[in-house]
Amino acid sequence: MHEGAVLLNIKTRFQRELIYTYIGSILVSVNPYRMYNIYGTDMVLLYKGHALGENPPHLFAIANAAYSKLMDANHNQVIIISGESGSGKTEATKLVLRYLAAIQHTSNIAQQVSPLMESFGNAKTVRNDNSSRFGKYIEVFLENGVISGAITSQYLLEKSRIVFQAKDERNYHIFYEMLAGLPSQQKRAFYLQDAETYYYLNQDQASIFRVLASILHLGNIFFQRHEVLISAQEIRVVSELLQISPEGLQKAITYKVTVPLCALACFFGFRDAVAKILYSLLFHWLTEKINSQVYPHQHTLSISILDIYGFEVSDLTFNSFEQLCINYANEYLQFFFNRIIFREEQEEYSREQVLWQDIPFSDNQPCIDLVAAKPHGILRILDDQSCFPQATDHTFLQKCHYHHVHNPLYIKPKMPTPEFGIKHYAGRVTYQVHKFLDKNYDQVRQDVLDLFIQKDGEVTKHFMVILWYVSYLFLSFLLFRCNPFFVRCIKPNNLKVDELVSHQLRHSGILETIRIRREGYPIRMQFDVFLFRYKSLVGVHQIPAASGENCVLMLSKLCPLRPGLYHVGVTKCKRERSRHLAALTLQRYT
Ligand code: ATP
Ligand code: MG
Repeated sequence: MHEGAVLLNIKTRFQRELIYTYIGSILVSVNPYRMYNIYGTDMVLLYKGHALGENPPHLFAIANAAYSKLMDANHNQVIIISGESGSGKTEATKLVLRYLAAIQHTSNIAQQVSPLMESFGNAKTVRNDNSSRFGKYIEVFLENGVISGAITSQYLLEKSRIVFQAKDERNYHIFYEMLAGLPSQQKRAFYLQDAETYYYLNQDQASIFRVLASILHLGNIFFQRHEVLISAQEIRVVSELLQISPEGLQKAITYKVTVPLCALACFFGFRDAVAKILYSLLFHWLTEKINSQVYPHQHTLSISILDIYGFEVSDLTFNSFEQLCINYANEYLQFFFNRIIFREEQEEYSREQVLWQDIPFSDNQPCIDLVAAKPHGILRILDDQSCFPQATDHTFLQKCHYHHVHNPLYIKPKMPTPEFGIKHYAGRVTYQVHKFLDKNYDQVRQDVLDLFIQKDGEVTKHFMVILWYVSYLFLSFLLFRCNPFFVRCIKPNNLKVDELVSHQLRHSGILETIRIRREGYPIRMQFDVFLFRYKSLVGVHQIPAASGENCVLMLSKLCPLRPGLYHVGVTKCKRERSRHLAALTLQRYT
């Protein structure tokens, strides 16, 4: 097993319209960009109740395995779906949910949850017309094997998109949907009439549109030649829509621009921060609203699905705070993945009583520490600096250089450029520190919060939810309490298939898994399977009795193997079927 072989396999299968492949227990899924007829009821029935490997590789097999394991072992399961933008993670998430609903004929939660979440959290990007700009963790609760409800959590919503979009990209779908779908009369109403005029039933939607409309209006508040000439009309509309005092808004904004030098920058920074916070709050509120519709009666066992955007190195713009958060989340996932794969190996060896030598694997703990360890991890320094009024992106960078200059994973630029580099497991990334402090601070800006606190305490309460939510650290406490399954999605590209796919394979950690296995005994066969398969080569017609001794005998006839190159494991009764299972670990990879 090596990179070329894996690549060739995936490619050949893909050309035969077989988009799923197992590598060990990992499912690799290559996005075909057209719907094959492989998700119907016939397929659900084919995979229902059948172990992995009994049928051809399929996402349904993974969903079924998670379900069976939950039932058998009484333990929470998680399906971790990763891959780069456009590789098919969100579609896979929906398919898993569809499978879980189909096997028990219950309604599909995805149908209720996905369209709304996608309107508010997805946008057109250059890589994917329906790109999820947030991470999603859906817990599906089961009571006696039957779905009883679900809870969706969202992480790391890309807030910068609300105020800025790269070339050929768009803002969140909902803005366009609202503008295209609302009757003109209603559109006018969002700044001409009082909220009380709406019927209770429409109230929910009305508040959503009100916040969305104010965000759009906020963006239109402008400045003229360094003078405080804020459009009075916009101020009035925004304050009315948000139900805050116009004087307060005016004062807050003009107060920010009393320092002439940074007038424009301060003003836009403040305005954009308000827009971003408003949208995050709306998204947060919406998720809670959706959850309340399908909330489980009690927290029983669950199958969770994690749909999180992959490692990002932006070649279009520069890498900033958002990329660092996303890459950190991926770095953590990789850490988790390594630990699990490594642990699985170790368990298999000890089950089979094969002498275990420490297999070196590239543990990325040092990189996780560099980014997030207390007290001097980069994100910790950033949090720390965000509390100092005098701190700037520059002082933040100096602190990072000071603490990490000797760290082999940290790259201090040779020239005094405002950037630092990190050697991630998936490659080097250079981060530009411009606006790092602002972006981190956006989450906790007291001046922005004050604006909303002045009217009613209720709003404050909602803000606090966001405040205490340290999004980039979420993975650590979620994953370790579940038994994981991994789905690695791959995006093909017709022009440069090999290069791009091998790049993704490397990023996905699959090659590292292969390396770990190769260091030990990579090929494992049950005694009976081995004897059946190779008997003709030694001129035997009858299958010998399934025992380790017979396997060794056959091996010695097949080829001269030195001890140490193979190992015969113990035979072991495997659950009720009492099949002989052993690690006849044939050959150490040389
Ligand atoms: P992002 O990180 O940008 O959110 P993603 O990995 O979630 O990307 P998807 O939105 O799931 O990517 O997939 C992109 C498109 O690829 C889908 O809109 C769909 O057209 C197609 N696609 C994905 N998976 C499949 C599949 N299994 N079969 C057919 N088409 C698919
Ligand atoms: Mg997606």
